[in-house]
Amino acid sequence: MDSVIGELASLMSEKNMEAVFTTPRITSPVNADAVRLAQVFRNLLSNAIKFSRPGGRLEIACETRPDEVLWSVRDEGPGIPNEELEQIFEKFQQSSRTRTGAGGTGLGLAICREIVNAHQGKIWATNHPDGGACFHVELPAAKIVKRDAARTSPRPGKRPTA
Ligand code: ADP
Repeated sequence: MDSVIGELASLMSEKNMEAVFTTPRITSPVNADAVRLAQVFRNLLSNAIKFSRPGGRLEIACETRPDEVLWSVRDEGPGIPNEELEQIFEKFQQSSRTRTGAGGTGLGLAICREIVNAHQGKIWATNHPDGGACFHVELPAAKIVKRDAARTSPRPGKRPTA
């Protein structure tokens, strides 16, 4: 997420926008294809920038739970009509609120969902109660196998089998 924010810094400064982390940046490890995960974050952040008014702020949060790691990107743009929150993840679907003049292909979020599904994760959109859209990505936390616990020491006097 940090590196994608860096990549998009000039796009944000053109619109006089800033991205703010509202939680500590530390998350548990996840097993993920880093290039694909960055593609998901890049798509969410560039949409958030594209649909925000100049001077708008992006709020980024990450949360570690026992079994999942969750990221969210919130903007101060027009939001998404509630009945379209699922539809926008389908190919070539655009929200009725931004369809005119927004440009784009309507493919980015469909690709994001495929990538996240391939990681056994979830991606979804909500509207923030104070306005703006919020996109959430949840991936399973990596299971950390302690090396010592994984090593089974043979009982004395008994030869280990295979
Ligand atoms: P594209 O942005 O190229 O149209 P996406 O699949 O990334 O394609 O997004 C699909 C649609 O979802 C957008 O056209 C827009 O209508 C809506 N959308 C996505 N992100 C946001 C956002 N942050 N705020 C409002 N609408 C959004």
